[in-house]
Amino acid sequence: MQLTKISTTRSVDVLVAQLRDEIHSGALPDGSVLPAERLIAEQTGLARGAVREALRVLQTEGLLKTKPGRHGGSVVCRPGEDLLARQITLFALGRQIPLTTLLEAREAVEPSIAALAATNRTPDELEALVALTKSLAAAVEAVPDFISVHLEWHVVLATASKNALLKGFIEGIAGLTLEASNSEVFDSLEVRQMSVRAHQSILKAIAARDPAAAAWRMQRHHRAAIQQFRRHAAKNLGQGRNKESA
Ligand SMILES: [Zn+2]
Repeated sequence: MQLTKISTTRSVDVLVAQLRDEIHSGALPDGSVLPAERLIAEQTGLARGAVREALRVLQTEGLLKTKPGRHGGSVVCRPGEDLLARQITLFALGRQIPLTTLLEAREAVEPSIAALAATNRTPDELEALVALTKSLAAAVEAVPDFISVHLEWHVVLATASKNALLKGFIEGIAGLTLEASNSEVFDSLEVRQMSVRAHQSILKAIAARDPAAAAWRMQRHHRAAIQQFRRHAAKNLGQGRNKESA
C-alpha cells in the first residue's frame, strides 16, 4: 500500500477516502492488516491523532476492526450484516420518523420479502418459521413474549429471502414498529389472535413455495396492522391524547 503526502484542512477526510478506495477496489483485501499508526503518519505527514481519527471513521463504516495483541492493529473487514440495520434504525430514530411511515415502509417491502422467501427458503428456515409460528400462537396471552417472537419471525423470514439489502432495511425498522406499537396495537387478545392467523397463512404459502400468495397475504397482514394502528390513534385522539404525535 502506498499512501501520498496529505496537506489540506480536511486531511482526515482525504486519508479516509484514500483508505476507503483501497478497500473498495480490493487493493487492501479482506483480512489484511494496515501498517501501524506511526507508519501511516510518517507516510502521509499527518499527526498520529489525525490518523487515529481516520481509522475510527472507517471502523464506524464497518470497513476496519481492531485486533488486539502484538500482531494486532487495524484489520480490513467487510461491513457486518448488522451494519445496514443499525444505520436504518439510527436514521429512523434520529429523524423521528413517525410510526405510520415505518408501517407504510414495511407494507411496501415485506410482501417482496415474503415472495422471495417462498422461493429461496431452505428446509431449515422453513422449520424455524414453523416453530416460531407455534411459539407465536403459544404467546398470544403474553404481550412481551408475543412481541419478541413476532420480531424474530419477521427477521427469519427476511433471512430466508436471501436479499441482504431488503433484510437490513426490514431489520432496521421492524424492531421500532413492534416496540412502538407494543401496547398501542397489540393490546387486545383478538388482535393478537388475528395476527397469529395471518402468520399461519403466510407460512402455508412459504411452505408451498407460492410467492404470489405469500406476497398477497403479507400485504394483507400489514394493511390490517396499519388499520388497527389508525383506529387506536383515532380512539386516543378522541380521548384527547394522540400518542402518535406525542
Ligand atoms: Zn407480523
